[in-house]
Amino acid sequence: MREGINLLESASPTMISEMARQCWNEMDSNQSIVITAHRSPDGDAVGAALGFHHHLKAMGLTTSVVLPDRFPSFLNWMPEADGICFYDEETESATQLLHAADVIWCLDFNGLDRVGKMEEALREAPGRKWVVDHHQLPDDFADCLLSDPTCGSTCELLVDLIVGWGQGELLTHDAMACFYVGIMTDTGSFRFPSVTAHTHAVLAHFMSRGLEHASIHQKTFDEQSLNRVQLQGFAMSQRLHVFNDYGLAIVGLERADLNRFHYESGDTEGLVNKVLGLAGVGVAIMAREAEPGLIKLSLRSAGDFSVRDLAAAEFGGGGHKNAAGGVVKGMSMPQFIEFVSTRLSDWFNAGV
Ligand code: 5GP
Ligand code: MN
Repeated sequence: MREGINLLESASPTMISEMARQCWNEMDSNQSIVITAHRSPDGDAVGAALGFHHHLKAMGLTTSVVLPDRFPSFLNWMPEADGICFYDEETESATQLLHAADVIWCLDFNGLDRVGKMEEALREAPGRKWVVDHHQLPDDFADCLLSDPTCGSTCELLVDLIVGWGQGELLTHDAMACFYVGIMTDTGSFRFPSVTAHTHAVLAHFMSRGLEHASIHQKTFDEQSLNRVQLQGFAMSQRLHVFNDYGLAIVGLERADLNRFHYESGDTEGLVNKVLGLAGVGVAIMAREAEPGLIKLSLRSAGDFSVRDLAAAEFGGGGHKNAAGGVVKGMSMPQFIEFVSTRLSDWFNAGV
């Protein structure tokens, strides 16, 4: 599907359904267009929402970006990040925007339950919901769906859509910078198996149009606060539990740990990948006590073990085979670690 001489151009005609292609003709400058993404938005969610906003704006359309809640501060530099309306902070304005929208682009999520407290407002919004996403098994809420679970990021899919609209040469620097962030973060800086020749063709297209990739890496990864660096060091040295027999490791941070290092959203970003990077570890879990009795999980695996299946079976979550999330309710951190230790033989011997 993603092959050819000019990968960027040739991928689109087969990739983009006629229905998705039609979406362009159904938008005009008199409409209210809202762009949204999943709760706890990551680089791909924010990159997709802002990148698409920049592109549609450059094409003469008016769009608002509404997100369920705030994203990690290392993404604050992204162009027009300060113009985003957050549902949890400005509930009334966000609800009004959603309600008044003719079209709501839903990016990087496969079910209405992925927008947290914004679910009802989004569900009840009368506008058409057009979904672009790369998670498996999308729920049936889209009026038009562009879904490709084999694609490494929603941002890459959006570039295909834009190229499919014949606008690949019209991408602005702001749009490309945002899409680059999404592709970069959802592929672990272009290293996961989901990266293809097509991914690199998209990046090459950006660079041939003058995108300065080095400064994007620098602004995203090289301006970490001392608290963040120290929290991650503490987590790895004091809060790591390795179950050697199963190649599974957990890093568990309690409220007191987070408070000690003045935790801010995003400070644990990347930590789970460091755990996965340990020799002999094939499954990594980062557990963070968000509030008493509520632990948020980030799961990663290398190879065939599906953390999506594990998250769905045990932790009310989901995601991708090698990167997933979920929650644990009603357990303290020591209880959770104990719970995992009792379940390991089932997970690894019987499968989940
Ligand atoms: P992260 O660990 O980076 O928060 O999430 C990894 C992947 O799992 C992302 O693709 C994200 O969309 C998905 N994910 C995280 N939390 C949840 C959850 O609670 N439910 C579902 N279905 N997916 C999740
Ligand atoms: Mn994504």
